[in-house]
Amino acid sequence: NALIRLENIHKTYTTKDKTLHALSGIDLQIEKGKIFGIIGRSGAGKSTLIRMLNLLEKPTQGRVFINERDITAISEAELRKVRQKIGMVFQHFNLLTSRTVLDNVCFPLRLAGMPKKERHDRAIELLSLVGLTDHIHKYPRQLSGGQQQRVGIARALANKPELLLCDEATSALDPETTQSILGLLADINKRLGITIVLITHGMDVIRSICDQVAIIDGGKIAEMGEVLDVFLHP
Ligand code: ADP
Ligand code: ADP
Repeated sequence: NALIRLENIHKTYTTKDKTLHALSGIDLQIEKGKIFGIIGRSGAGKSTLIRMLNLLEKPTQGRVFINERDITAISEAELRKVRQKIGMVFQHFNLLTSRTVLDNVCFPLRLAGMPKKERHDRAIELLSLVGLTDHIHKYPRQLSGGQQQRVGIARALANKPELLLCDEATSALDPETTQSILGLLADINKRLGITIVLITHGMDVIRSICDQVAIIDGGKIAEMGEVLDVFLHP
């Protein structure tokens, strides 16, 4: 029941004077409905790996399957459709500063061609889901970091994704706010059945919400399995 399967993924970056192996032979499988964490030091290859899952970055070698469909073998037009069903949440929120909270969430719906009234209603519903009903007409800079990330999450959910990718989504937040955002992600996973893949350098993040974890080191998987098996609990 794999939503995602990576088969022998290699990624090398070639600059003028050298070749860097960012990923070397990654095999992994992520089951539907799970929260899968990827942890590792800075430079280990986490961002490169998460960007393989929606082919924001193309592998040098290997294949990526979503629902057993090889997305390395499809056209750019098909890939755009696949990407629309994958939400992304970023460390620095990446909100449009000149647009209101409501407009930020409407934006991907507009790109997807949804009519105005419909996307407006949908955005309001999503903002209520993340607890921002009272802030929809504000601008991002008027919100706290945690509130801005809630907008980022609402936006990521706009096109009803099956998969949510979180790239250091709580790394810019204080511990208390981190816990509330992790709580929201766990709730979205449980209530909406959305599979979540997150990358982090924080063990606390893995322990508090992940089902499975892969430890990545030097572009390879050093350890992988159920969180309860991989890490001894105190
Ligand atoms: P992490 O997210 O774990 O910090 P990254 O995936 O960002 O690791 O980086 C893995 C390695 O690949 C690092 O050595 C990094 O410098 C290198 N790298 C990442 N992106 C590029 C790029 N676009 N060009 C060249 N090297 C890159
Ligand atoms: P409940 O049965 O608790 O109301 P739903 O499955 O109906 O839960 O979803 C709650 C809200 O989340 C609804 O407004 C729905 O439109 C929205 N929703 C459902 N699935 C997704 C999804 N995959 N992505 C984003 N939003 C979703």
